Amino acid sequence: MAAIDRYYPVVVIGGGPAGSAAASILAQHGVKCAVFERERFPRFHIGESLIPDTYFTLKRMKLIPALQRSHFVKKYSVQFVADDGRLSAPFYFMQHRPHESSQTWQVLRSEFDQLLLYSAAEQGAQVHEGCRVSDVLFEGSRAVGIRVTGCDGKVHEVRADVVIDATGQSSLLMHKLQLKVPDPVLHKGAIWTYYQGAYRDQGQDAGATVVLQVEGKKGWFWYIPLHHDVVSVGITADFEYLFSGRGVDHGKIFEEELQRCPAVRDRLASGRRITRHFATRDFSYRSRQAAGDGWLLVGDALGFLDPLYSSGVLLALKSGELAADAVAEAILSGDTRSDRLGKMGSGFRARHAADAPPGMRIL
Ligand SMILES: Cc1cc2nc3c(=O)[nH]c(=O)nc-3n(C[C@H](O)[C@H](O)[C@H](O)COP(=O)(O)OP(=O)(O)OC[C@H]3O[C@@H](n4cnc5c(N)ncnc54)[C@H](O)[C@@H]3O)c2cc1C
Repeated sequence: MAAIDRYYPVVVIGGGPAGSAAASILAQHGVKCAVFERERFPRFHIGESLIPDTYFTLKRMKLIPALQRSHFVKKYSVQFVADDGRLSAPFYFMQHRPHESSQTWQVLRSEFDQLLLYSAAEQGAQVHEGCRVSDVLFEGSRAVGIRVTGCDGKVHEVRADVVIDATGQSSLLMHKLQLKVPDPVLHKGAIWTYYQGAYRDQGQDAGATVVLQVEGKKGWFWYIPLHHDVVSVGITADFEYLFSGRGVDHGKIFEEELQRCPAVRDRLASGRRITRHFATRDFSYRSRQAAGDGWLLVGDALGFLDPLYSSGVLLALKSGELAADAVAEAILSGDTRSDRLGKMGSGFRARHAADAPPGMRIL
């Protein structure tokens, strides 16, 4: 791994989809940047179902051929099951928009994220794994660099003209600058696990995401077929409903919810659970501000709403792409003030407000 320099024009904190998109596209612009990622890849992550619009940023990242060659399950559609068991007709993306992008993928995030991050490195970004950033350094209101612990355990101060925060739900800068606005309506939680050998549809429907409502519309399950005959299955519901007064055993709560959703219970009957249960809560929030002098937020570090639409990776990739374009332009012009970097925010809102599913608010 390359030594950590004392200065880079751009530092990206976090090597998930948002950080990798930003780093790849900065490298393509010829802007030198370094990514600092606290984990060593491959690392586990939730968020396995892609949606068609991810194609366009993945194409800019030069990743479509690798994805087409990969063993990731091809996804052509999504299907809904009501709480009384009624099955909707599959929604085939191709019928909505006949384009290559209408076939997307169900991805194991450990493998997918590694593909993205290492591709950014191949394109010229300097990637430092196992390096936790503990702080963003400011002079007045301007971000001027980061403090990072290298994999040798030494603390480095690294200067940068622009710091891109792609730290996901850790949201380093959002917390430091107290920009977090929790969403009081979407006060949600999720519990999920993985099965092998469970029911799979056949043919074109084999890769469909199935969204199944729990009895009394209390929440919904996702059912996502992955490769190696594995299914990702999880419930999302209001925080109070899922966790309050129900003890700390997430496996027990998950099993109780399965009994309230026979359509999922029946699909899992032939399979066996192969991991523990995972849980997360309070994941719906946004930042009051997307950029400042010398800094930007992308992906979940900027905000996250609800997994229902499988839009998290799309928004991470797209915000990373738009940030990279805005930062490259700012670096070339020598002006990295808030107004210049903030162009990314308005572009992001404008491009996605039109495409947003009904009821989905765009930051
Ligand atoms: C229950 C649930 C289900 C979901 N399902 C889907 C789905 O089906 N489809 C979908 O598209 N999205 C889904 N999402 C959302 C998706 O997981 C995220 O939106 C997406 O991972 C965001 O990408 P990111 O790059 O912003 O952040 P991340 O993928 O979280 O990457 C952030 C990276 O930053 C690193 N990092 C954090 N702090 C530091 C630090 N201090 N120093 C250095 N590195 C650091 C982390 O290790 C991590 O690798 C789901 C989310 C939840 C909660």
